[in-house]
This record gives sequence, C-alpha cells and structure tokens, in this order.
Amino acid sequence: MIFSYPEPRHERTHGPLGYSSYRSFRPWLRDEFIFRCVYCLKREMWGQVTCEFDLDHFEPQRLSPKKELDYFNLVYACRRCNAVKGGAQLEDPLILLTSENVVVSPDGMLVSEVASVKRLIRQVDLNSPRLLRWRTMWMRIVDLAVERDSVLASQLIGFPDELPDLAKLHPPDNSRPEGVEKSWYAKKQQGRLPAYY
Ligand SMILES: [Zn+2]
Repeated sequence: MIFSYPEPRHERTHGPLGYSSYRSFRPWLRDEFIFRCVYCLKREMWGQVTCEFDLDHFEPQRLSPKKELDYFNLVYACRRCNAVKGGAQLEDPLILLTSENVVVSPDGMLVSEVASVKRLIRQVDLNSPRLLRWRTMWMRIVDLAVERDSVLASQLIGFPDELPDLAKLHPPDNSRPEGVEKSWYAKKQQGRLPAYY
C-alpha cells in the first residue's frame, strides 16, 4: 500500500560525517528515506523529480545550531511538509510514523490511536482536505496503473532510474560504512532491486 509507513520503525542505514554543507547529505538522505517524504510519503516520481524535496533539519537550526551538519538530525521531506513544519519542534516522525501506529483509511485519512501520533499528524496538517483528496487520487491512479499498465506502474511506484552511487561519494568520515552495500544502487547492481516499493 503506497501510503503505509515503515514497519518496523526506520533505523538509519547510513552515517556520513564531516561535510561542510548540509546539502552534501542529499544523496544519502534520498537513499535512506527511499526517495519519499518521511511525513506524507510523497514520492519523487510523483512530481517533476527535481527541486520538490528539501532536507529538513528535524531539530530546527534556530534551536539546535550545533546540529546543522548532523546527518542524524536531517530527514528527507517534500517542500509542502517542510514548509508546514517550519521552525516547529516536533516529536520524531521516524519513531511515531510507523505502520503499527498509523493506518490509512480508504478515504485517505490517517488514523491513529496514539496521542503523540495524532498530535504530529495535526502539527504537519497531514489530514487536511487537500491531502485527503491527494491520497485518494494517488491510490486510484496507482491501482489503475497496476491493473492496466505495468510500465506506468513501475514509473509510479518503482525506484527512480537514477539512484545515487554512494560508494563514489567519499564523505570525510562515515560512522556506518557498511550501509553503502545496502544502498538501493548496490541492490540494483546485484539484481536485487524490487520492482515496486
Ligand atoms: Zn510531505
């Protein structure tokens, strides 16, 4: 299901360190968060691919300036969610937004019984009327594509053609070097990339 959150909760695969600009973390974050927004699950392939995703400082720079270049404080987020979040301090979406905590109803509504999850959904306005329409529209589009057009389906819910080759990046340091072998590019090279995700 295209709007299912990760299960179990997301544990970081990568740990690059030492870049002098947070923008250098982009290929790592794209790979880490499977080319979609951690908040609303919008996929890169659903838009114009470039310039629609931000690197969100989870703890805002204003409150935690020392974490500006901390990989573990960065998440991949679409423009919309990053803008709605703004400088707010939230509880960690990687802990809260899991399939165990959130289900998507057929009308596109995110439903949770957990108070902290409900609060996060409210704070990022994930159940706005526009997002409900957007979710139901994409569920229908993807269903139709899977049923009738496998090439289109792989464009919509497959991996982007251009996957970051993390082995070529050489950050100043890396606390989880073994993650590179688990990257989506490496899986593709090994013929283990799933058709859909
Ligand atoms: Zn989003």
